[in-house]
Amino acid sequence: MSHDVSRTHLWRPYTQMRGAAPPLEAVATQGSRIILADGRELVDGIASWWTAVHGYNHPHIAAAVADQLARMPHVMFGGLTHQPAERLAARLAALLPGDLDHVFLSDSGSVAVEVALKMAAQMWLNRGVSGRTKVLAFRGGYHGDTMGAMSVCDPEEGMHRRFGAYLPTQVFCDLPRTAAETEALDATLAAHRETLAAVIIEPLVQGAGGMRMHPPEVLATVANLARRHGLPLIADEIFTGFGRTGTLFACTQAGIVPDILCLSKALTGGTMALAATIARTEVFEAFWSDDPAAALMHGPTFMANPLACAAANASLDLFETEPRLAQAHAIEVRLADGLEDLRRVPGVADVRILGAIGAVQFAKAPDLAALKARLLDRGVWVRPFGDIVYLTPALTIGAADLDRLIAAVTRAVAEQAAVTA
Ligand SMILES: *Cc1c(COP(=O)(O)O)cnc(C)c1O
Repeated sequence: MSHDVSRTHLWRPYTQMRGAAPPLEAVATQGSRIILADGRELVDGIASWWTAVHGYNHPHIAAAVADQLARMPHVMFGGLTHQPAERLAARLAALLPGDLDHVFLSDSGSVAVEVALKMAAQMWLNRGVSGRTKVLAFRGGYHGDTMGAMSVCDPEEGMHRRFGAYLPTQVFCDLPRTAAETEALDATLAAHRETLAAVIIEPLVQGAGGMRMHPPEVLATVANLARRHGLPLIADEIFTGFGRTGTLFACTQAGIVPDILCLSKALTGGTMALAATIARTEVFEAFWSDDPAAALMHGPTFMANPLACAAANASLDLFETEPRLAQAHAIEVRLADGLEDLRRVPGVADVRILGAIGAVQFAKAPDLAALKARLLDRGVWVRPFGDIVYLTPALTIGAADLDRLIAAVTRAVAEQAAVTA
């Protein structure tokens, strides 16, 4: 043991602590900028893991949280309710398509997925059907880091290899992009007819799995097949929700209404931990009974935290009063224009744009540390992973900052591709 425990007690995410480069110390944020302790100001290209859709420190959210903090920062949700949560649930139900009307609040995306999986499993039990214990998930997907969520992540790229023995075994398919893949999905659903409880998908974009996009028709195909086989569809919109793909929710681009939908990441505009699992009435009704054991068996301590609900309500206000979707569209146009040339750079395999997401894929995984350093040298905060470098800025980012991000990525990718090629 030679690491300096006096320097920090913090165990970092996805980081081999031994020999890890020290993280940069952030002291303040503003708009699309992160200010470091050493005085550097970075343009944030990823909006703090896709959360800060309105930019940092939006005064409307700050005021709503300050007001709530003075009144009631937290109160337990068992047996009690409060206006911030009541209002948020009603607004989400109104914004979401169809009868996605029943909102269960929790505190992180992974937990929202766990709740969705549990809802699907218990829905069958409550209907008197046993043995439906598996979920059909898609290769390339990412749904979180807790055990149940990990079990539906991509079986190769995800953490299955390390934790396989701990995880429930699920059923995996390719997204049905071709007629053959559609047939394969149909056949797999038929083959596991008796054991499947649900189908889970990230609509339109598989985010952390590699920014892989699929057209709305593919999502519609999945929804149709799930329906035909009598299975509830869980849409994990934790990444795609709140304007990221150009519409408020990705599902609406395919005209589908999933049975259960998960939200988190941008729900509070990047200020606080909050997540929601929202069910359609048919799912909710499976729990509506005189039997106490038929109740949904979940209840996080900080469920419906009033501060977080106040932040989420303020964030929804901003979607009503400020032109977020138009801004997402403007970003899409600028990203397409700015990143398109990289397609011709040797060593670049693909460039993908959807809404306020721009992703560049290398033919071979680059030296990530070197690439990160190149980006940092250009004053931008961008976090490439695997063979991907991507931009998911705040929807409010100014034109100059967006151009700086695009220029930095373009130059860094070209330099890195030249080294790797
Ligand atoms: C980030 C993410 C999660 C997990 O959310 P956490 O808040 O990190 O637990 C789940 N699904 C998708 C699609 C995500 O992008």
